[in-house]
Amino acid sequence: MGRQIDWENLGFNYIQTDCFIKYVWQNGAWSQGELLTEPYLNLHIAATALHYGQSAFEGLKAFHGKDGDIRVFRPLQNARRMARTARRICMPEVPEDMFVDAIERVIQANRDYVPPYGTGGALYIRPLLFGSSPQIGVSPAEEYIFLVMVLPVGPYYKGGLQPVRAVVLEDYDRAAPQGVGNVKVAGNYAASLEPHAKAHEQGFAVELYLDSKEHTYIEEFGTSNFVAINGQDRFITPTSSSILPSITNDSLQHIAQDMDIPVEKRPIPFDEVSTLKEAGACGTAVVLTPVNEIVRNGRSYRVGPEQGCGEKLEVLYENVTGIQHGDKPDPYGWILNVDSARTS
Ligand SMILES: *Cc1c(COP(=O)(O)O)cnc(C)c1O
Repeated sequence: MGRQIDWENLGFNYIQTDCFIKYVWQNGAWSQGELLTEPYLNLHIAATALHYGQSAFEGLKAFHGKDGDIRVFRPLQNARRMARTARRICMPEVPEDMFVDAIERVIQANRDYVPPYGTGGALYIRPLLFGSSPQIGVSPAEEYIFLVMVLPVGPYYKGGLQPVRAVVLEDYDRAAPQGVGNVKVAGNYAASLEPHAKAHEQGFAVELYLDSKEHTYIEEFGTSNFVAINGQDRFITPTSSSILPSITNDSLQHIAQDMDIPVEKRPIPFDEVSTLKEAGACGTAVVLTPVNEIVRNGRSYRVGPEQGCGEKLEVLYENVTGIQHGDKPDPYGWILNVDSARTS
């Protein structure tokens, strides 16, 4: 079935694959997990996920290497982040072993859908955990579903490392300082739909959020972190209690450090944008999209070269994708090769 896919022209759209894997949490324990072919659930109409947003998701990718092996990028980090999210909205955690095992099983069952080496595509892996039992008073569900679905994707933004423009919308915030911005709950994306549509209407690919208390500091884009190279050639990225800790960002930081690019993690006032040499949006779907212009209150700030990507961010991008595809060595132990015995 995977053979009918036009690998060169994949977008970031839902495509049905052979199966997904589903586990149920009942009476305090997880089931064994079963592979199901029909992409529908029989869900109670009063499930807490539907009414109260008791739902968490993750996103990661697997790649076909030149050697034919399938490599998953940093699945343990996603397992840990999902566990943090689960705690924040009172759901049972998925044990790390079960999380990784689910991913391995669903990939093996959908091998035909992992885009071939060299096409630029990947198998996108979407773990989902949500309250599935009925509740009308506001309290956590008693039963939960954990599932992992997979689908082949191309690059999120077509055209690779072509720079995009970002806008700050003063009338919107992404997350409250002590809210749920630092965990991957479904509702965060619901909140971003309207501002994202407005940004799009105005001709911007992404919207940049500032801290919701003062609108002074840079937080992140709707679905990706903010990273930049400043005038001192340092890699800078903001810290805040309401930013979602991106695994891609963490990976870029490790590589920057090992290339002797100093890494600064601190609150970044918006005023600093006028000093930036390069900027980008990072996340699993895109890895890194260069941002070369930010518009706020009708004023435009140039934050990167007119064409292409800045030099430093491009090298970091090449290194992350090189490790992901198995073209570069993985000194960090980030890769889970599902076709060879697991090491650490
Ligand atoms: C998932 C997500 C990111 C990117 O995280 P990665 O682990 O790099 O994929 C960034 N910001 C938000 C709000 C997210 O939900």
